Parts: sequence; structure tokens; C-alpha cells
Amino acid sequence: MRAAGKMVAEILQLISDRVKPGVTTLELDQLAENECRKRHARPAFKGYGGFPYTICASPNDRIVHGFPNREPLREGDILSVDFGLIIDGFHGDSALTIPVGQIEPATARLLETTRESLECGIAQALPGGRLSDVSHAVQTRAERDGFSVVREFVGHGIGRQLHEDPQIPNYGTPGHGPKLKSGMTLAIEPMINAGLPGVKILEDGWTAVTVDGLRSAHFEHTIAITDNGPEILTRLES
Ligand code: MG
Ligand code: MG
Repeated sequence: MRAAGKMVAEILQLISDRVKPGVTTLELDQLAENECRKRHARPAFKGYGGFPYTICASPNDRIVHGFPNREPLREGDILSVDFGLIIDGFHGDSALTIPVGQIEPATARLLETTRESLECGIAQALPGGRLSDVSHAVQTRAERDGFSVVREFVGHGIGRQLHEDPQIPNYGTPGHGPKLKSGMTLAIEPMINAGLPGVKILEDGWTAVTVDGLRSAHFEHTIAITDNGPEILTRLES
């Protein structure tokens, strides 16, 4: 799991570094696939439930599961990239929302809050706690800034499968759900909207967009619960 997580982090870093105005999300998809091949890893999303690409590329009002395409990114856009791979039978899964060039302060705040809501959730991933402690921490942090939590998509257990039990909602009251134990590996992934929490699915059957057309951000890490606290597997050591 550590090896898979590290590889995901490395490739997401390469994608992030490539994002700028004029670049297309299809180029980023190709980059991700090539980097998987170099490392003898398999993209986890391509073919999963019929999803046709290596990354999910979801700009602006796209929440998750967007298809990479030939449309160039523009200055001031934001791009959520979700990426997972399989190596030696284990999965890593991580996502982040990347600014394209200079973004407006209100958008920067949405990104910062979403990133922090993930950190708050991870901080509750402790042995002896309950799963909804994580959910509650994410929701509390996101709503403090007036943003809303997407209900339709959730985090998940991860390991030999991309999506394992338990499901991890990004909202809820603390003290409920499965007891957290050392050795569990979870993908925690808040999707936070600037406006209303509602979601629509586009005609491709995959792409989730906000109902009001306002922007959405997505940050995800694969983590391990340990006796020494949560270990973030998809973060590069600094
Ligand atoms: Mg993901
Ligand atoms: Mg995930």
C-alpha cells in the first residue's frame, strides 16, 4: 500500500507541474498512463465500471468523474484530477484540485477549505474512533466557510480493491459507524461546492456537475490508520 500510494503521489505531482493555460486534459491523461507504464503499474480507473480513461479530469463546475478532452485549460480555471493505480496487487487513490494560472481569491478559498477539510478528516482517523468522526470533521470544516458538502459521492476503504467497505460520507454526526482500527486503509475524499450541494450527471453517464454551475473542489488521500496515528500514503515526503 505504501509503494502504491507513493507512486500515485509522484505521478500526481508530475500532472500538477504540467497544468497551465493551453494544456489539454487529454495530454494529462496520456502523461499519467505513460508514467504508469514506466513504473510497471496499472491505471486503476481505466476500464473500472467502463470508465474509459486513466485520470478523471473535472474542471470548474465539474465535481468528479469528468472525461479528459481536447479543450485547452484557460487562465483562472481550476482542474480536479483524480488518479489511482495498482502495483503488486494493491491500490493507491488520490485527488487534488489544481489552479490554472492565476485564480480568483474566492476560488482559492474554496480550494484551501477543501484541502483543510480533508486534513481535518484525516486527523480523526485514529484507532478506537468511529468512522463518522472523520465524516463530521470534514463537514464541520467545509461548512464553517459557507461551502457545501456533496452527498452523492463518498470516500471508501481501499486495498486489494479500489473501492472496499466502508463507505465514508463527508457529512454526519460523530460517534457512529464502524470502529476504526490500526491497519485499516481508507481513501478520504471531500468534494466541496462553492454554492448548492446538488449534483447532476451529464449525458456521458459519468461526469458529475454542480446543479447551480458554481465551482467544486476535490481533495483525496489514501491513508493508513496506525497506532501512531494516521499515515498519509499518497503524500510525498518533503
Ligand atoms: Mg480518487
Ligand atoms: Mg477514491
